[in-house]
Amino acid sequence: MDRLMRAKFLLMRERPFLKKLIALMEFIPTQDTPSMMVNESLEVFYNPQVLERDVGELACFLYHEALHVAFNHFRRMKKVNAPLAVKNIAMDLEINDNIKADIARSEKIRFPQDFIHPSDLGLPEGLTAEEYLRYLISRSAEFSDLINSYGQKHAPGLELTAPEGKGKKIRGKDRNLIGKLAKEVIREGLRAGKLRGRASSLLDPERQKPSLPWQVVLARLARKIYEGRLQRLDVTFRKRKKRNPTEFILPSEIGYTYNPVVVIDTSGSMTSDQIRKAVAECVHLLRLGNSKIRIILFDAGLQGDFYTDNPLKDLRKIPGRGGTRMDLALEYVAKKARNHSPVIVFTDGETPWNEVKPVREPVIVCLLSRTGSAPYWAKEFHIERRGH
Ligand SMILES: [Zn+2]
Repeated sequence: MDRLMRAKFLLMRERPFLKKLIALMEFIPTQDTPSMMVNESLEVFYNPQVLERDVGELACFLYHEALHVAFNHFRRMKKVNAPLAVKNIAMDLEINDNIKADIARSEKIRFPQDFIHPSDLGLPEGLTAEEYLRYLISRSAEFSDLINSYGQKHAPGLELTAPEGKGKKIRGKDRNLIGKLAKEVIREGLRAGKLRGRASSLLDPERQKPSLPWQVVLARLARKIYEGRLQRLDVTFRKRKKRNPTEFILPSEIGYTYNPVVVIDTSGSMTSDQIRKAVAECVHLLRLGNSKIRIILFDAGLQGDFYTDNPLKDLRKIPGRGGTRMDLALEYVAKKARNHSPVIVFTDGETPWNEVKPVREPVIVCLLSRTGSAPYWAKEFHIERRGH
């Protein structure tokens, strides 16, 4: 029996909660990956070279690939905007963190030395892929070597997609089956104490939450910040002289100060009526303690920066009408309008966004069109046009 099969049976015996997913895996040899990768259809592509590893390590590879599927990484990573290599590292950190914590108790499954772990990067354990992604992007300069080489040197290779020209497209029926099995794996893995507790959030997807009108959500958020109940993570790296030179000190929590600013995209694609109505409603909601709200008008460049308590009047004539550069608008906020929280942006979303979140404060993007999109680091509301 070849090593891959032995690894498969070892893992099924040692971690029965993975059994059903692993049983469905189809193994395909290829030179297109340095080690191993999986796709949504549970096809596992492997470089025959990887079979030189011992069975315990190979079982860990399969464990890793199974968790990509169980953790619903394909869907989750489609929702975020980042280079593939960065997504890949973030997902692998989430998985390997989980596996390492689990197999510390197993002598048979072995954690390969070249598997990346949050502690290798000085990052905290127990975070989600999305949270690791945020760290990687906000400190991309520091991690640039890793990001550039990941997928060539590190195992496993670039995932999420099958090697070009290979792999079958997943059909609806299979997708449902795999989705169901993935949830079963999470449920049983949690019950057996093999998965970190955070995985439980994968069982109740967001779409099960009732969707509230944007005004309600915005008002709640504003109230939370106003009352100092919304905290930010203040992450500090403290250098220790002796044992752990880069020991990670857990984030301390600091409340935001309520001081909203509203950024309005005044580009040609936004109709002024649309803007005025939405902004007036928003300013009304935001005027909790402040009598006036700061407004910044921006398209390809700055068009206005003032305080108002009467947006319907003050926005009667909207200047500008150039192209849309909300990335520059937020850079302006970072430089000239610091310490505003929350930062609220009204735009059609047809704009470039900053790759890295330019301000520390929460950013809310209110989209006035269905086609535009917000960056992954912002909270997003769709404001539907009513009437016409
Ligand atoms: Zn992976």
